Amino acid sequence: MKTELKRYSVEQVVEGFFYNELEGKGVYGLGGKLVIQQEYQRNYIYNDGKKDVAVIDSMLSNYPLGLIYFVDAGDQLEVLDGQQRITSIGRFVTGKFAIVRDGNEQTFSSLPTDQQKKITETELLVYVCNGTESEIKDWFQTINIAGVPLNEQELRNAIYSGPFVTAAKAEFSNSNNVFQQKWAAFVRGDPKRQGVLEVALEWIASSKNQTIEAYMAEHRHDAGIAELKTYFNTVIDWIGNVFTASPDKTMRGLEWGRLYETYKGTSYSSVDIDADLQTLLGDPVVGSKKGIYEYLLGGKADTKLLNVRLFDSNTKQVAYKKQTEKAKVEDISNCPLCAVGDNANKTRTYKIGDMEADHVAAWSSGGESTIENCQMLCVSHNRAKGNR
Ligand SMILES: [Zn+2]
Repeated sequence: MKTELKRYSVEQVVEGFFYNELEGKGVYGLGGKLVIQQEYQRNYIYNDGKKDVAVIDSMLSNYPLGLIYFVDAGDQLEVLDGQQRITSIGRFVTGKFAIVRDGNEQTFSSLPTDQQKKITETELLVYVCNGTESEIKDWFQTINIAGVPLNEQELRNAIYSGPFVTAAKAEFSNSNNVFQQKWAAFVRGDPKRQGVLEVALEWIASSKNQTIEAYMAEHRHDAGIAELKTYFNTVIDWIGNVFTASPDKTMRGLEWGRLYETYKGTSYSSVDIDADLQTLLGDPVVGSKKGIYEYLLGGKADTKLLNVRLFDSNTKQVAYKKQTEKAKVEDISNCPLCAVGDNANKTRTYKIGDMEADHVAAWSSGGESTIENCQMLCVSHNRAKGNR
């Protein structure tokens, strides 16, 4: 790979700059010769009123902006690293945001002429690189340690860039997509940082026992994303059909792809599901609200999912003392299940540390975590009874 150090003024770089609000991208510079945002690069994330302002303040204060990298693609140059900085400059020069100078809000056009000139005459140091696609992508991963590092899905988009990634990003990474709000009830992640796309890919790939990488490699040159989109919507619709109440915040970020694959063949009464769901969400002994969904999908069998808060230590001590005193009088084991059996432990007195608290009336059938409903069992009997 060949590299050459060049200098471009801000005026040259932002010539013909155009910012696409809908896609969150700055597109062209250098009078059309420079492609600012390639499909493998992330959407513009500097527009937070801090990073974009800092870029402009740096130029006005003569601070260095750091190295920028372009790729020589024959008739065009493409920005490999630096698109966030260039987009910030382009947006400022075209009046998209203001900065504060000496207590006053200033847009580019309201700045004094000398300060405007300071910006347009700022020289950007640019390495222009010439190499094969894989050389450039390897290198891109290496230089990207500066600034905001790419996350895993952004890197995958870089590595498997092509028409499939472009179409997938148009659907899942556009925060203006009207469905984003609906998806956000179930999917955690920032669409701009590829969080929603990552979940969509994870679901379809897992359903085929593939990794995200394998799925992306296989579909890299596909023109469309029909399968990905259909599967994602199928899972989302399934959630909404099973849990018909307005989504609770605990539904966000669950492994819905796995739950769909496991439980899609079961039919549910949405009335019963909703009634149980509201009860469990409001029950203070349920330690894991996120576990409620799989617990209900699985027919309320696996109470471990709920991480039910068991008896407190005071209740356990009272129950232990009462049982043990009674057992001594009757000369039987203080584990009531050992006592009724015909075994070596029939008269054994367990220490409190060798016993566990059990709900006499099962918690899942409405039994409460009170002293009246608490009995201490030896560990093996309690485990045999199951986690209730
Ligand atoms: Zn026992």
